[in-house]
Parts: sequence; C-alpha cells; structure tokens
Amino acid sequence: MRQLIAGNWKMNGLGASLAEIAALSSLLRTDPPPCDVVVCPPATLIARAVALNSGIAIGGQDCHAEASGAFTGDVSAEMLRDAGATAVIVGHSERRQYHGETDAIVAAKARAAWRAGLMAIICIGETEAERDAGDAHDVCARQLDGSIPAGASAANTAIAYEPVWAIGTGRTPTAREIVAMHEHIRNRVATPLRILYGGSVKPSNAREILSLADVDGALVGGASLKAADFVTIVRACRAAV
Ligand code: PEP
Repeated sequence: MRQLIAGNWKMNGLGASLAEIAALSSLLRTDPPPCDVVVCPPATLIARAVALNSGIAIGGQDCHAEASGAFTGDVSAEMLRDAGATAVIVGHSERRQYHGETDAIVAAKARAAWRAGLMAIICIGETEAERDAGDAHDVCARQLDGSIPAGASAANTAIAYEPVWAIGTGRTPTAREIVAMHEHIRNRVATPLRILYGGSVKPSNAREILSLADVDGALVGGASLKAADFVTIVRACRAAV
C-alpha cells in the first residue's frame, strides 16, 4: 500500500505558520515522495492553506456528526469539505479524553466524513495503564469494533494506532510492539485499510517505524509543525510495492 504521512498541528498555528506548508511544498515539489501527504492545521487555517495551492492535501482535526444545526462552536464535515479539506482526523485521544468522545460518537463522525466526501483518519490507542495491565490489544479491538462503521474502505478510511502514552511524550513502543499491534489491527478489520502509527514520530525514528511490517504511514503531531522536520519524516516513507 502507498504510505500516508499525516501531520496534526493540533491547536497550534496562526497565519504566519502557513509559510511552513509553503516551505514543505517547495521541498517536496523537486523530488515528490512515493507516499501521500496531508497536513491538518487548525480549522481557522484550512481555507487559507488550501488557497496556497501547494499541492499538499489539507485535512481537519475533527468534525461534528451532523451537517449543520444548533451546535455552537462545532464544524461539520461538509464545512471542512467546503473549505477545501479532503480528510479529517476523528477520535483522536485528545478528543476522547477532553471532549468525552465515545466509540459511537467517533463512528458517527467517520460516517459524516464519508457523507461529505472526506477520508476519515480514525484514531485508536490504549493508555499506559491499559498497556501495563496487558490489555492493549483488547482495548484497541473494542475501539476498532465501535469506531469503524460498516462501509470503511481503503479509499475512505485510514486507521491511526496511537498509544496515548506515546503522544507528545518522546516515548514510543518497541518495534516489536508496534508490529504486533498493527498485525492485530490488520486481522481484526475485515477490509484492508491503511494503518498509521502515531506517537512521538520524529525525524530520528521515522525511517525505522515506517519500515515496519503493516505500518502504512504515520500520524505526526509536534514534528509536523516545522517543514524541515516533517519533510524528513515524509522522505523516510517506504516506496509502495
Ligand atoms: C498526535 O497528535 O496525533 C501525535 C501523534 O502527536 P506527537 O507526534 O507529538 O506525539
């Protein structure tokens, strides 16, 4: 499968940060990588990022399940699409943790993404306590069963396995643990979907992680904010076979 490298800017970035997308674009234009790349800036920057015509796909970080209505402060998948986004992250652990998103809510958001013509990047992952208790595979299986609606295909969905304890901490699972989890996810999901790894991916570890079996890309937080770092991660992708 062609790998997908997705950047999640989280709640970071003002207008000046668009220069990073422009810089990334010119770095990649000279020597296009054999993978797909999407950058997910905050919602306020999506339309401006798209207007750069950088050739880099732009995504949202969340969407509401409804297309419109009395949901103050929320953004629908249709609005993201209208702004020019082509993908949206749903079920990120920060949404699950700080906004109480359940698997059922995440599944509804994924369906909303498809309804609007967006690819859904559906996140799952265990906490440190769950891993220490030996429950990581069961937890992720439950999240997969509850968060991925029927109808998922490689064209409309990617899964991001993001151990919560590895996000923003500089810690990562061992290569063996990543491979075991990705194999577990592959076996659990009926359709062949891209399975991204996320959690402290950086220029120094990207090549090793992206070379692992069943790793079809990466979801990158902090290291996606600077074009110089993100381009190194993108260049570490594996050529599709
Ligand atoms: C993320 O936000 O999805 C993420 C993986 O963050 P980081 O790369 O900073 O750990």
